[in-house]
Amino acid sequence: METDFSVQCPYCGEQIWMEFYPEDGQDQEMVVDCEVCCNPILYSISFRGDNTRLRVERAQ
Ligand SMILES: [Zn+2]
Repeated sequence: METDFSVQCPYCGEQIWMEFYPEDGQDQEMVVDCEVCCNPILYSISFRGDNTRLRVERAQ
């Protein structure tokens, strides 16, 4: 299963690679600061077999 995900920062548009593992839970949420603009990004991911959904939004 793919664990590397490419997303765009919702603030500055920079491409960011994140790793998520289904072993850590079917539904995960975490806030990570963008490495470029340092704004907090909220990542929400849900693993459902082949149907993995990742949402990225501003945490502020
Ligand atoms: Zn950014």
